[in-house]
Amino acid sequence: MEEIIVNNKQKYLQDNYPFDDVPALTDKKKCIHCGTIITVGDYKVFNDDIGQELIFCPNAPDCDGTVIDWFDVD
Ligand SMILES: [Zn+2]
Repeated sequence: MEEIIVNNKQKYLQDNYPFDDVPALTDKKKCIHCGTIITVGDYKVFNDDIGQELIFCPNAPDCDGTVIDWFDVD
């Protein structure tokens, strides 16, 4: 996987977030792959094995969770 450096993280998230309710960069989510509470703005972007840009867990590449693996924290 190759990391993509994103300069405007808020805009990138708005343009690429797969669901309607785009979170704030300061929101906390739980990544179910690594079990960690993450801050949304710490996300990383990688090209996956088939050349698709995906929003990954901040713990990538150690964690292979992507944005769809994040759940709300109460
Ligand atoms: Zn993770």
